[in-house]
Amino acid sequence: MEQVLTAVRTGPSRTEFREYPMPDIPEDGALLKMEVAGICGTDVKFYAKPPITDDVIMGHENIGIIDRAGSQFLERKGVREGDRVFVEHYVPCFKCEWCHQGEYRLCQGTDWRKNPDGRRYGYTSAAHAPHLWGGFAQYMYLPWNAVVHKVPDGVSAELASVVTPMANGIQWALFDCQVGYNSTVLIQGPGQQGLSQTVACRQAGASLIIVTGTKRDAARLDVAKKLGADHVIDVDAEDPAAAIDEITGGEGVDVALDCTAGAGTIPILLGIEALKRKGGTLLVQGEVAEFPNFPVARIANKYITIKAARGHMYRACELALAQLASDRFPLDLITTHRFGLKDTDAAIKAVGGSEGVIHVSLMPWE
Ligand SMILES: [Zn+2]
Ligand SMILES: [Zn+2]
Repeated sequence: MEQVLTAVRTGPSRTEFREYPMPDIPEDGALLKMEVAGICGTDVKFYAKPPITDDVIMGHENIGIIDRAGSQFLERKGVREGDRVFVEHYVPCFKCEWCHQGEYRLCQGTDWRKNPDGRRYGYTSAAHAPHLWGGFAQYMYLPWNAVVHKVPDGVSAELASVVTPMANGIQWALFDCQVGYNSTVLIQGPGQQGLSQTVACRQAGASLIIVTGTKRDAARLDVAKKLGADHVIDVDAEDPAAAIDEITGGEGVDVALDCTAGAGTIPILLGIEALKRKGGTLLVQGEVAEFPNFPVARIANKYITIKAARGHMYRACELALAQLASDRFPLDLITTHRFGLKDTDAAIKAVGGSEGVIHVSLMPWE
């Protein structure tokens, strides 16, 4: 019987290589031959501290080729065998109100925290047959309710693997925080996420983009400039609040986006400070579980709107793929590193590790 090679997270920072049987493909399902699994900060966090004890094939930013598919799957999804596709990590119910809006991120069926039967590539227990629920593997199983986006011709698999941070950039900055023509924006953190926000804001017409980073982000801040940042600030070298004040002539910015990792409450406080006098929008991550002495009065006085960063909707993915295909920005500056499946452990640890790393691609066939 044919077997599929996978890298399985079996505990904190532990990877085992395991073979699962090649699944039978029903009329409404398909088999994806993996090309690239992108790795992001969430992988770093959940590899070190798994949110569930079950064995999990990680990998939730997945690009591959439709290898085999049932006729119903092809008809419903409008794809053909041999097509390169991006598979959203949400495997939604397609029945609820959110699904009908393309908001699969909000569907109960994809909520692995609340719903033990929730399906999400890279998060779902490998105990569920047919087991292939993650991209750190040579093949992935696509059921009837997998969400696929055709990758435009001319976009390489490796470039396409940046689609998730780019979709988040479009979702968070443009849809959720309404960045548009003449907007002024502070982006904290020049990782793949912050850089994708930079591109989205630039493309949307922002007139001022400030990107902050730390001393070890020198190379990334350089890339931020090449991708459209007007100013970059090394927060270890200068006081960022004073620098933003000077750059904006004391006006502050319309929108502050937090794309940092492991910085605690500092970016939220800086965001509140940097926003304009009234009516700014602050995008927060769910990194800190609690925020002692949260300055509620400051939020109220400045009439700040707070938005939460929470994945992306269907349309953001389509726009992100179009952005990648447009060739308008030197996005190959983001795809810095690639690793084979046998180096899964090193690949995850490389993200957020050494200085030059921005986006890491795991190549399951290398
Ligand atoms: Zn991710
Ligand atoms: Zn749903």
